[in-house]
Amino acid sequence: MSGCGCAEVVTPGLLDLFDARRRMIEAARPVDGIETAALGEAYRRVLAEDVLATLDMPGVDNSAMDGYALRRAELGPEGLPVVQRIPAGAGVLQLPEGGCARIFTGAPVPLGADTVVPQERVTLDDQGRMQVAGELAEGANIRRRGEETRAGALLLPAGAPLDTAAIALLASHGIGEVAVIRRLKVALLSTGDELIEPGAIRAPGQVYDSNRAMLKALLAQAGGEVLDLGVVADAPLDLHQAFARARDEADLVVCTGGVSVGEEDHVRPVIEWLGGIAFHGVAMKPGKPFALGFLGESLATGTPLIALPGNPVASLVGWQLLALPFVQVRQGREAAPLQQFPVVAGFARRGPRGRRELLRVVLDWSSGTPVARLAGGQGSHMLGAASQAHGYLVIDANNNVEEGHAYGYCPAAQFLD
Ligand code: AMP
Ligand code: MG
Repeated sequence: MSGCGCAEVVTPGLLDLFDARRRMIEAARPVDGIETAALGEAYRRVLAEDVLATLDMPGVDNSAMDGYALRRAELGPEGLPVVQRIPAGAGVLQLPEGGCARIFTGAPVPLGADTVVPQERVTLDDQGRMQVAGELAEGANIRRRGEETRAGALLLPAGAPLDTAAIALLASHGIGEVAVIRRLKVALLSTGDELIEPGAIRAPGQVYDSNRAMLKALLAQAGGEVLDLGVVADAPLDLHQAFARARDEADLVVCTGGVSVGEEDHVRPVIEWLGGIAFHGVAMKPGKPFALGFLGESLATGTPLIALPGNPVASLVGWQLLALPFVQVRQGREAAPLQQFPVVAGFARRGPRGRRELLRVVLDWSSGTPVARLAGGQGSHMLGAASQAHGYLVIDANNNVEEGHAYGYCPAAQFLD
């Protein structure tokens, strides 16, 4: 899916994006600790144990339609008298011989009945006898006891993330609380002398800290518990103090800014002071100055630290592609596979040198098939396009984008899962 088919050459010293993602996933150790959550609190948590069905589902044979329950063999040209009325919530009744029952969707089919005929196919004569137009298959329109699940069957495995359908499934089986993996505690900090809180009055040269607001939301969405350590000055001692606290109080440290190689970038040396770096620098645009490090003896035993770039879009992309799968695995679930499929570009553009580029695009469906268009300015500081984008068009290093050619498209909605 390369535009020009040229060989891909990555900038020396930078890790390939997909290698970096693999290394993040391999480095992630699930946290220990199980707690009980009421179903109402369990959304976005991860199951700690297999959940087995305690009931057959459906629990009784019940009607799939509003209609009439009958014995198929008893239905002749003269029809059947309506002798019972069975709404949803009624118990299991016995259908008298030679009669049929008015029945409603979800109501238990009476014992003896073998077929439900939908009300649309029925006429009632003035004696209250029911006649059916056309053929009627025996067994039709009955949801059978246990046809979906038998008691004892696996409903959801340990490690399943509790999304909306999973919550509904558990509720439908009468399960009111579940064992979930404890939340990952994540210490979050920004670094940069220019940063101020949104809401404060800005002096020239100051910049509102958007990354921490964004990462707080992203961490909450991923099910983490955030320890907000605020903005830390671009100074080694301040960073040392903040990282030491983060190491002691959290399962993971996420920081943003100060991770390039300029003289005001102190994050890397302070990580090395307190621990070490697993890798630094990824061949992606935006998002190059990404690092995985640890505070302590090793990556396996210490507190892992993810250093995201300061540029806001770089920080977002670094989170979505590299940090999120790490967090997912630490929370006891599998990393969601990266979804990418070919989409045609509706524009031409010179490609990036030495790095894979993730262009922020919207999908235009006006022609019936999707065409990717740039969502706005592509600078790594330009949040407008990132907020408009439906996803990323992924352009391999040293490839130009040619209009009408297909490139890998990564929908952004996958990162909400
Ligand atoms: P740095 O990675 O520290 O070199 O920062 C790169 C760019 O991102 C600079 O323009 C910073 O002002 C900006 N930046 C750094 N941190 C943040 C943040 N938390 N929120 C918004 N912009 C930031
Ligand atoms: Mg900085």
